[in-house]
Amino acid sequence: MFPLIKELLKMPADGREVEVRGWVRTKREMKNLCFVELNDGSCFAGIQCTFDLAADLSEENHRALSLAGTGASALVRGKLVPSPASGQAAELAAAGIRILGEAPAENLPASAGRSAINAYPLQKKRHSLEFLREIAHLRPRTNTFAAVARVRNRLAFAIHEFFQSRGFAWVHTPIITASDAEGAGAMFRVSTLEMEAPSENGGTFPDWSKDFFGKKTFLTVSGQLEAETYAAALSRVYTFGPTFRAENSNTTRHLAEFWMVEPEAAFAELDDNMDLAEDFLKSLFNTVLQDCAEDLAFFDERIEKGIIETLGSVGASKFTRMNYTDAVAELEKAFNSNSAVFEYKPFWGCDLQSEHEKFLTEQIAGGPVIVTDYPKEIKAFYMKQNDDGKTVRAMDVLVPRLGEIIGGSQREEDLGKLERRMAELGMDTQAYWWYLDLRRYGSVPHSGFGLGFERLIQYVTGMANIRDVIPYPRAAGQAEF
Ligand code: ATP
Ligand code: MN
Repeated sequence: MFPLIKELLKMPADGREVEVRGWVRTKREMKNLCFVELNDGSCFAGIQCTFDLAADLSEENHRALSLAGTGASALVRGKLVPSPASGQAAELAAAGIRILGEAPAENLPASAGRSAINAYPLQKKRHSLEFLREIAHLRPRTNTFAAVARVRNRLAFAIHEFFQSRGFAWVHTPIITASDAEGAGAMFRVSTLEMEAPSENGGTFPDWSKDFFGKKTFLTVSGQLEAETYAAALSRVYTFGPTFRAENSNTTRHLAEFWMVEPEAAFAELDDNMDLAEDFLKSLFNTVLQDCAEDLAFFDERIEKGIIETLGSVGASKFTRMNYTDAVAELEKAFNSNSAVFEYKPFWGCDLQSEHEKFLTEQIAGGPVIVTDYPKEIKAFYMKQNDDGKTVRAMDVLVPRLGEIIGGSQREEDLGKLERRMAELGMDTQAYWWYLDLRRYGSVPHSGFGLGFERLIQYVTGMANIRDVIPYPRAAGQAEF
């Protein structure tokens, strides 16, 4: 295959003949020169193609140049030469250009054989992120979204590298599940039944036993329970895949469909789990700093000032660790002395609100914080119970700007304790027979956590809205594309 711009820019600019393919970002004319900047998305930079209009360019080339507007796709031939312009090492001394697909700068009426075409919407100017969300199919052609896509790709690969190099096996947990009480969030139903209103249905709800799976089924909110079964066999596993929550909240941190990474390790206690989460995040930060330097420089300049320095220092320092009780004490102290204004009054037993998480990370710790040992009432049934009878071995990793990025725990490995907790919560233990079997046969201490992949991307890029770090966001009322 022909070289990508990323590869061309690494070659010696020794006058070698090359061909470039990409989309025109800009075209400028100056005296007898015409500059066409081509970008192919392989890296942040494009390549400048300089045409000498005084040289004898063919009629065809002149015609092609006149069509080389922003958004058009083109193939340019020329020599790779050192660039006199600052900010780029090499450019193309172009000898010929062919337009592969035009992108009109103005609306075109319908003509024989095709419908009307509106002007290419991404003309050279700054567009709001809200506007770009409406043209999510074209936004990867902008600097911002192409950079997000490259960082996302690098992080996904880095996640596999991290776990694979530490003996974790990737397991594929089901997307359709019948466990409906994992407690992680509201679920989307999966059904092939005709959905009639109960009134038209003789006042009854559908008979789920007649549904495709013979029971109620949903899109998964977490692969954890199934991952635990594989950790109880392969020792260390992780999942990395799509996860669904029917969150009706309209926040900048929640999607209805997001990707989650869930490591689960046997013979691991909460301290091991915290160490793993911390090493994991730091290793990911360092990878993007190293391998996505150009993209990060862009985010630092245009999206979140200082992000490079923050990632560097967070990647090199120890995360603050505190238990929930101490965290609440700090919050109460700040609330009572009026040194912080909270909408929600903090108290022991409260679920930490995002304003509380922000305060802990930004004001108390000045960086990421791992909060442990939450009250059992606000955490899931499977978390290991502490001897105090009140708290569980939970751990949330909170980061400035976003709040929770990771949620995890040591799991309860004692059958009796787990059964009693499930009964207390009114859960049907029968439905979890297979999960409880892990505690019946060769039970071991084990721990794991879930990282929201999009929150990670938000953190490293500084992008404020989670809808801008996934190609096609799914949220309440939003399923276009
Ligand atoms: P939050 O309190 O922020 O809603 P949670 O406690 O419900 O999150 P967990 O069940 O602990 O979330 O899920 C593990 C991780 O998955 C979270 O730490 C977060 O990074 C991510 N996550 C959870 N819900 C969403 C969502 N709706 N969209 C994107 N990421 C999410
Ligand atoms: Mn959580």
